[in-house]
Amino acid sequence: KRLILIGPPGSGKGTQSPIIKDEFCLCHLATGDMLRAAVAAKTPLGIKAKETMDRGELVSDDLVVGVIDEAMKKPSCQKGFILDGFPRTVVQAQKLDEMLSKQGTKIDKVLNFAIDDVILEERITGRWIHAASGRSYHNKFNPPKVLGIDDVTGEPLMQRKDDTAEVLKSRLEAFHRQTEPVIEYYSKKGLVANLHAEKPPKEVTAEVQKTLS
Ligand code: ADP
Ligand code: ADP
Ligand code: ADP
Repeated sequence: KRLILIGPPGSGKGTQSPIIKDEFCLCHLATGDMLRAAVAAKTPLGIKAKETMDRGELVSDDLVVGVIDEAMKKPSCQKGFILDGFPRTVVQAQKLDEMLSKQGTKIDKVLNFAIDDVILEERITGRWIHAASGRSYHNKFNPPKVLGIDDVTGEPLMQRKDDTAEVLKSRLEAFHRQTEPVIEYYSKKGLVANLHAEKPPKEVTAEVQKTLS
């Protein structure tokens, strides 16, 4: 399957991704995780993206399209993939369609993590991540077994620099202005499944499984 996860920051895309990935043996491509790794490694790409990400704005379409184009060539992504955080603009969606049609493939489903903005601040400000894997926890809704430590690797957790109430405002503005039109773009193609992303994680998982079965 070739899937897109779309939803505002904190809607639960990263939390559901590993479950979908394991169940359907797909590769998980999260542009936010890739960009953060580039920032941490201070690659030319990371240096270009850092300030924009810190402000909570979207990096340029050419930059992320390049990142995705490269990542989708991996052998593990040939049978299917989950795109998490991409496409976020209509231009990115059009570029993606072009890339896929060249390979004679297309998107099967777009999972829309629908949720009210007011729920997101508490989710975002309580989020802790394992940087290397992108795994996320929440101090209240999904705490790790040991506070500040990743369950799987035992490595320390960190908070993202852009996970503040203030930067969230810009990220939500970018979502409504630039990413909501992408949902419309795929709705017209009849590909969108709406999820109740405000529900507890297990209930969202059940909805995802029902949609994909
Ligand atoms: P979240 O999961 O909280 O929605 P991400 O980790 O996906 O956030 O993205 C973090 C930041 O990385 C974004 O605010 C943006 O600056 C940048 N980014 C990630 N994906 C894209 C994309 N497809 N287009 C433009 N910018 C992106
Ligand atoms: P996204 O990738 O869409 O930005 P995450 O999956 O990282 O969002 O989730 C944001 C925060 O909310 C994390 O701290 C996560 O543990 C928590 N979370 C995820 N899904 C739920 C849910 N259904 N109910 C409550 N908290 C959740
Ligand atoms: P600063 O130097 O401004 O404090 P960093 O360069 O340490 O910021 O980090 C920039 C961004 O990358 C932050 O959002 C941080 O959460 C994230 N980050 C830092 N290290 C990693 C890593 N190893 N993997 C993924 N993201 C990381």
